[in-house]
Amino acid sequence: MAMVIDGKRISEQIKEEVRQEVARLKQSGRQVSLAVIQVGDDPASTVYVGNKKKACEYVGIRSLSYELPGDASEEELLRLVEELNGRSDVDGILVQLPLPGQISEERVLKAISPEKDVDGFHALNMGALCVGKPGFVPCTPLGILELLKRSGIEVSGKECVVVGRSNIVGKPVAMLLLREDATVTICHSRTRDLATVTKRADILIVAVGKPKMITADYVKEGAVVIDVGIHRVPGSRKLFGDVDFESVEPVCSAITPVPGGVGPMTIAMLMSNCVESAKRR
Ligand code: NDP
Repeated sequence: MAMVIDGKRISEQIKEEVRQEVARLKQSGRQVSLAVIQVGDDPASTVYVGNKKKACEYVGIRSLSYELPGDASEEELLRLVEELNGRSDVDGILVQLPLPGQISEERVLKAISPEKDVDGFHALNMGALCVGKPGFVPCTPLGILELLKRSGIEVSGKECVVVGRSNIVGKPVAMLLLREDATVTICHSRTRDLATVTKRADILIVAVGKPKMITADYVKEGAVVIDVGIHRVPGSRKLFGDVDFESVEPVCSAITPVPGGVGPMTIAMLMSNCVESAKRR
């Protein structure tokens, strides 16, 4: 039977560690603060932003909320980011994506000071990850590595295959695994004979955005399988992943469930990045 990696438990452990660190910093007169900007009232974004604020409250991080109307201009948003960049009492700046069509995400992400880019999406932080220099690492990839480490899964020397090459998951997780001395292959929609490649993996990371696409036919016996995907069963609150859990669980040695695997780690690592920022600055 495969080990089911408990992301909920591990994320709670991390939040507890962050809470203690935030309290220590507070005792020495340093309040950790995160500015959260939402443009418009997209319901999914409102839920994500609400969860981030709740997590801040739990760990003792002060969250500053900025809600701009859906028709706000790019200039307006850039002015706000500039103001927050200059404030010494703000450690992290987070702009909830996606942004409305009239605003360029690229220009906005570029405007956030790399020292306050706790989401790790700024090109300078991405570059730092590639060349092995310190910087902020995107929260979901960081959470995946933390799940592996805290589950006692060695990465060094392992054959890792990442399915998906997005800037927020696939590419940064591949870079992180490389930094941890894994041998890494990245697959995408043009990869030929995907199953042959994924079957080489000791550790298979799936961030493909296709419900239950990865079945046992894609997985080597005894592999570790990390499912990043999140999909909702239409008309219900039930969630499932990019991996067909029932099919894959019997052949692998460890697997993350959906929900309760990678999902809760993202916010925990965001909290951790905020503390990291406060300590660095
Ligand atoms: P994207 O849609 O940005 O990227 C999907 C990637 O999968 C692309 O690189 C695409 O290739 C590749 N792909 C698509 N179809 C295939 C295929 N048939 N075979 C091989 N590769 C394929 O997704 P994200 O990275 O943003 O997210 C992936 C999943 O993770 C989603 O379900 C998302 O909801 C979830 N997610 C979960 C988070 C969490 O906190 N747990 C955080 C972020 C995302 P190509 O580049 O060639 O198009």
